[in-house]
Order: sequence, then C-alpha cells, then structure tokens
Amino acid sequence: MAKTPAEKIWFNGDIMPWQDATVHVMTHAIHYGSSVFEGIRAYNTPDQGTCVFRLNDHNRRLFDSAKIYRMTIPYTLDQVNTATMDIIRANDLKSAYIRPIAFYGDLGMGIQVPFGQETELSIAAFEWGAYLGEEALQNGVDAGISSWSRLAANTLPTGAKAGGNYLSSQLISMEARRHGYGEGIALDVNGYVSEGAGENIFVIRDKVVMTTPKTAAILPGITRDTCMVMLKELGYEIREENIPRESMYLADEIFMCGTAAEVTPVRSVDGIAVGNGGRGPITKEVQDMFFGLFNGSTPDKWGWLTPVYK
Ligand code: PMP
Repeated sequence: MAKTPAEKIWFNGDIMPWQDATVHVMTHAIHYGSSVFEGIRAYNTPDQGTCVFRLNDHNRRLFDSAKIYRMTIPYTLDQVNTATMDIIRANDLKSAYIRPIAFYGDLGMGIQVPFGQETELSIAAFEWGAYLGEEALQNGVDAGISSWSRLAANTLPTGAKAGGNYLSSQLISMEARRHGYGEGIALDVNGYVSEGAGENIFVIRDKVVMTTPKTAAILPGITRDTCMVMLKELGYEIREENIPRESMYLADEIFMCGTAAEVTPVRSVDGIAVGNGGRGPITKEVQDMFFGLFNGSTPDKWGWLTPVYK
C-alpha cells in the first residue's frame, strides 16, 4: 500500500489507522458539497516545542461555519480542540497541517438534511511544507487575475469555510496554473479585488496597507487577522476597503496570506511587476514577525500558541 500522509487519524471519536477512516460513496458531502472544514498549522518552536497556532480561533470558525448551515457538530469546541491535540500526539508530529472536517455522511438522496442530524467529524494531522513553495516565500509568486468571479453575496456564504465553496477556488487555481501563474486572484461580482484561491490579499502603496473587506466575498482569514494585528503593531495604517483591480498594478507591494500559504509575497499581477518585482520591505517585516512566532524571535503576547506536548 502507498505510504499514508500519517499513521493515524481521528474519526468520529476514535483514533484509528489512517486507511480505516472511510465513508460510503453515497456520502451526502460528496454529492452536495455539504461539509465544513478548517486548515490549521502546528509549528515546532524552540521554547515550547510543538505548538498549534490559533487553535481555538480555527475550531471556533469550524463551529461558526456549521452554524450558518444549521449543521450540528456532536462535540463541544473544547472536545474538538482536545481531539486536535490528541491526533498530533498520536502521530508524534513535530510540525503539522491539521484538517478537521465535519460532514453529512450516507443519508440517502435527499438534499435537505433533517434539522439536528448529527454529522461525522474527522481530524487529520500530517507534515506539510510551504503551500506555494519555499522559493515563493522569499521571492514571491506570479499571480494572475481570474476570469472567474468569487461568489455573489447571498448566493453561497463565503464567510463559511464550506466544501462546496472550493469549487470556486478550483476554477480559479486551475485557470491560473494553465496560464503559468503560481496563484490566481479573483474579483468579486462588482469587479473589486476579493481574494486568492485559498488566501487573503494585502495591497500596499506609499506605506498604506489595504486589505479587502468581508463584503468582498472573502473568507475572513485567521492569518489575515494575524497580519492586521502585526501591521498595526509595526505602526502601519490599515484600511479595509474595496480595492479596484488597477490598484494591484500600481502597488508597491502585495502579499497573500493563509494557513497553507502563510505569508507569501506577490511579485507580479497579470505580468505587471509589483513595485520592483520582488518581496517588498513591509512584507518582509510582516513575514519576520509572523515566522518569528515560530522561531522564537516574536514573543507570543497574544496567547496564539498552544503547546502540544507540555
Ligand atoms: N480564503 C480562502 C478561500 C481560504 O481557503 C483560506 C484558507 N483557509 C483563506 C482565505 C485564509 O484563511 P486562514 O488564514 O484562516 O487560513
């Protein structure tokens, strides 16, 4: 058998061999996209060993996503936090990408799920490197604006991290790769900048930092929030406002951020160089402060790190 990403997985209350956590082909979530999930990272820090980054904030968002869809998760937030830590320990991981997912299982063909129907929950944890590549963290990615718009308000809620939303992300990232870009950026239906396929976006000019608002069809990222807190701390003005497409062409710096992508500079948009075509100084400052949380150079005064083994 091919090597599995980790030996064990948490599934419906038990820790079991990775390959045993299976579902039936009639799983509702496969047919109708009815899942909500999270992506969380744990880092190996010098002082506290392995720590989960913003554990409670992520799992709280899992419950928020479920609430929007009237989905019942048959565990408390504390229980899910504990299970998240347990599966990291069970695999003896030093660093990890963690994927909790709540979904409707084999419930038959009905689209509507009876209210209060219990969901299945699994939590996987495995080693995973830089999502857009190590090189991109230094030198930036070439991004292209997608011909696909993000979801219109009041169609599917982008504030929920739901499985079905990722069909939009797939179209955006497939198109970007097909055109030779490292990542795609989508506009909202009004033509304003929304976000990357799996990342939020910051646009900087004349030291003013802008990021797209919640009303621009984004998933309000936890890394986005982290970057906003850090930029304020570094003394920058941050504006959450609609960003017209051309502001990306005229920016001094752009970066993307997300749990998988961490903080990644964008060096060109649609083939137009951002600033002088590399990582900008403010992006570097944010990266240093962000990665500093995990290499010990940024003290965790926010209580964002939860030690796994201590
Ligand atoms: N937008 C989308 C569409 C995403 O999938 C993600 C990754 N979860 C983000 C933004 C960034 O969110 P976070 O920083 O919470 O990972």
